Amino acid sequence: METKVQQDNRPKILIVDDNKQNIELLMELFRGEYRVVAALNARRAMKVALSDSPPDLILSDILMPETDGYELCALLKENPDTKKIPLIFVTAVSEVMDESRGFDLGAMDYITKPFHPPMVKARVRLHLNLKRKQELLEQYAFLDALTELPNRRRFDEIMDTEWNRAIRANTTLSIIFMDIDHFKRFNDTYGHGQGDECLRKVASAIRQPMRRAGDFVARYGGEEFVAVVPYVTHEEAMELAEKIRSHITDLGLEHASSDISPHVSLSMGVATIAPRQDLPASTLLEAADKMLYAAKAQGRDAIRGINLP
Ligand code: GH3
Ligand code: MG
Ligand code: MG
Repeated sequence: METKVQQDNRPKILIVDDNKQNIELLMELFRGEYRVVAALNARRAMKVALSDSPPDLILSDILMPETDGYELCALLKENPDTKKIPLIFVTAVSEVMDESRGFDLGAMDYITKPFHPPMVKARVRLHLNLKRKQELLEQYAFLDALTELPNRRRFDEIMDTEWNRAIRANTTLSIIFMDIDHFKRFNDTYGHGQGDECLRKVASAIRQPMRRAGDFVARYGGEEFVAVVPYVTHEEAMELAEKIRSHITDLGLEHASSDISPHVSLSMGVATIAPRQDLPASTLLEAADKMLYAAKAQGRDAIRGINLP
């Protein structure tokens, strides 16, 4: 028999309050519509916020022993992993000495007790909607609209992350830099619309052999693509480049004005390194770029690689 794990995708709310009754009250209010978790102090709240399943929104009391709500807010905002979680203070009117302090620290809103349930629900819904829209905007900001591949901005981020990860884990990192051969002639021959279509097809062919977790490919610029390949040896990175090349060959996209192949082809530069603290992450991309240039100089439709010391 097949067992299906039911995924609960409802937004998750974290309630932080040192008073169990207050927690109960809010839990009762939100239980039907959201996933709700609670923390009795700021330390536990931070644990939940930093876990694998962080909340989409935090409702926090202000007056709590040890770490108060303002301090919790500051802790959340100074940590890159938690700073995007919206926080709303829930508190008695008499406890709010200085509303602007909370906003200065990055809180989204205040809900004052005694509260009116429909109002509290509406505020929470509003802030969850804002957060979802913010996330969508960020996703689009990292996507190339034509090919739907991640864009160069996303590549820069990934490169930085992977470089540092490889240093910590003492592993290798490879890059494959790719550029379509004589693409200007392709546009001149078939028109810009066909050129766009060609870019889409090439993008999806490049993506096909990139199957391992951690493999990443982006559109770097006009007709340039870049793949980030962690953990593999230089030989394996070269093999992957060969696989990409054969996927491009299989596309069989006619390119009559190319003098090196009847079909659309790529030149590629591959570079592998064991990243070190004393080197900038740009070392790898620069090496791959040099190899790409060498592949072009060699006559195009070629792969050149370097295993950096
Ligand atoms: P090489 O083999 O040396 O790489 O020659 P190339 O013609 O491919 O290189 P070049 O850099 O001279 O020209 C790149 C061309 O790519 C010029 C530009 O019009 C085209 N291009 C860049 N972005 C796009 C795009 O989004 N759509 C289309 N259709 N063409 C694009
Ligand atoms: Mg180019
Ligand atoms: Mg080109």
